[in-house]
Amino acid sequence: MYKLMVSASFAAAHQLRGYRGKCEALHGHNWRVQLYVRAGEVNEVGLAIDFKHLKKCLDGILSTLDHTNLNTLPSFEKQNPSSENIARYIFEQACKELQGSPIKVASVRVWESDSAYAEYLEQDESAT
Ligand SMILES: [Zn+2]
Repeated sequence: MYKLMVSASFAAAHQLRGYRGKCEALHGHNWRVQLYVRAGEVNEVGLAIDFKHLKKCLDGILSTLDHTNLNTLPSFEKQNPSSENIARYIFEQACKELQGSPIKVASVRVWESDSAYAEYLEQDESAT
């Protein structure tokens, strides 16, 4: 099993509805995102997938979030744009984008600051 990761970042504003504290008010973050994928095999060149392709996939997803107020996007009208929900959103989009390719999305980490991230994955990694 091989595991690959690409990272990118985006800047956006959000506010957490129903949260009592500073994050209830509109504010911004520079989020750093890590997209992890896994592959069972490599091709004849020795690659699971071209990093370029993976990076393009992540950049495309993040371009829908960059410089927006996340709360106004349809995906976050009902659920808060917390780092957790952003990670799930990116995970789901990446699964759609990479459908039919030999790699599987393993997890998505969304860093809200240098010291805190939320990760979304479909199952416990240790179970696979
Ligand atoms: Zn925040």
